[in-house]
Amino acid sequence: MSSSNRKITIAKGDGIGPEIMDATLSILEAAKAPLEFQEIKIGKDVYESGHKTGIPDEAWASLKETGILLKAPITTPQGGGYKSLNVTLRKTLGLFANVRPCVSYAPYVETKHPNMNLVIIRENEEDLYGGIEYRQTQQMTAALKLISRPGCEHIVRYAFEYARANGRRRVTCMSKDNIMKISDGMFHRIFDEIAAEYSDIENDHYIIDIGSARIAAAPDSFDVIVTENLYGDIISDIAAEVSGSVGLCGSANIGKNCAMFEAIHGSAPDISGQGIANPSGLLHGALMMLVHLGQNQVAQTIHNSWLATLEDGIHTADIYQDGQSIQKVGTKEFAEAVIERLGAVPKKLASVNYGDGGGRQISFPDLKSRPHEEKILCGLDVYVDWDKDVASLAELVGGLIPSAVTLKVITNRGVKVWPDTNQETFCTDNFQCRLRGKSGVLSHKDILSVLTAFAEKGIDFIRVENLYDFDGKPGYSIAQGE
Ligand code: NAD
Repeated sequence: MSSSNRKITIAKGDGIGPEIMDATLSILEAAKAPLEFQEIKIGKDVYESGHKTGIPDEAWASLKETGILLKAPITTPQGGGYKSLNVTLRKTLGLFANVRPCVSYAPYVETKHPNMNLVIIRENEEDLYGGIEYRQTQQMTAALKLISRPGCEHIVRYAFEYARANGRRRVTCMSKDNIMKISDGMFHRIFDEIAAEYSDIENDHYIIDIGSARIAAAPDSFDVIVTENLYGDIISDIAAEVSGSVGLCGSANIGKNCAMFEAIHGSAPDISGQGIANPSGLLHGALMMLVHLGQNQVAQTIHNSWLATLEDGIHTADIYQDGQSIQKVGTKEFAEAVIERLGAVPKKLASVNYGDGGGRQISFPDLKSRPHEEKILCGLDVYVDWDKDVASLAELVGGLIPSAVTLKVITNRGVKVWPDTNQETFCTDNFQCRLRGKSGVLSHKDILSVLTAFAEKGIDFIRVENLYDFDGKPGYSIAQGE
């Protein structure tokens, strides 16, 4: 390897990871990509050897040195066990933008949507992926959805900059702001604000449920989609699947100083060790990495030879179809077929042209400063563990709170159950008591008095949330029926 080679970190991952990584590296090496690989060990085995994050110190050191990770999928246990290492990597390295292009390759890969070519840009650090969850009572669990203004601004601006740099014409926002009016409402509002600065790019918005349905039914009507973390995770699997196979799509995780490239799919334990996995998803991640590094010509050569391989009917099992495919191959043979075709261009599928490098760099504009809004503490939600009827809770709380505070409403799972209790509402053992300052404001000392009174009466308050007005507008949701 020449000394001018760009050093990158690679991780072979779990399940099919080593198989698809070896295939991908063989193609990069055969194409003479000017890269030098530094391998790190992360994932299941590292966890199981007792390391808490699954990422040892030497792996962090390598990532710090190279700033680029090409990563095969990692197994994450469901419903318990260690936290997702993927999420740890994205957050620790500040990889705020997850870019997931999904393209169809009809008729060579079977799909109902032959003209699909969309890119999902998913916020990558916030939302429910903090994995912050609580069991609060015998019956109730809660997960925290965190959406920040800088987080929204970064990802939405990135989506418009990406669209501009890649000649895309429209950015579609997807959110659920009809239900989550404050968190998703902010995402949508910031989208509208930033969209107005990009008059050369069209924009629109879908509620995520109908948006997902449209992706499944008419993905060719979308161009660039920007959305929150969880929605983006789900719709990118839908988009990948309807394009032909979840095994085809790559994914880039972009931060200001680091970037990580991978396949969309997971470690596929059901086919691991059989040598039949499609390496194309990881290869596409590697192509995005080459373009990110300005190695556009190599990316173009490999991408076109990959398209030519598809056209020649050399297919792995996941995309093999009778009548269209010529030869069913394993992971290694597929990579060899791509290598044999280096320099070829597809005859029927559109060939790619990545230009000469540098032209697709996305800029990271600084956040604009915003006026500071006046924040007034006006109330308090106290969540209590209570397994008796709501009337007795209301009577007890009403009798113990200080005179400056009033009990406004009690809710259960977001629905008002006191006063004017709706007999039909099923109540769990987790009630929310909404208290307000009688004068419209509350002090932190009032809050302490309230909590002291609750404690003296032996009421188990399991969570307390302050209510604030911002420039006179409520910064909290109103309960159904409140
Ligand atoms: P998966 O994507 O691994 O597999 C879903 C289905 O697609 C399986 O039938 C599998 O055989 C098939 N498939 C996936 N990739 C393929 C390929 N390259 N070629 C052919 N077929 C392929 O999803 P899962 O089974 O839900 O998850 C397995 C594990 O992967 C879990 O532990 C999950 O947490 C993890 N995961 C990791 C990442 C990542 O590292 N970025 C992403 C998603 C899931």
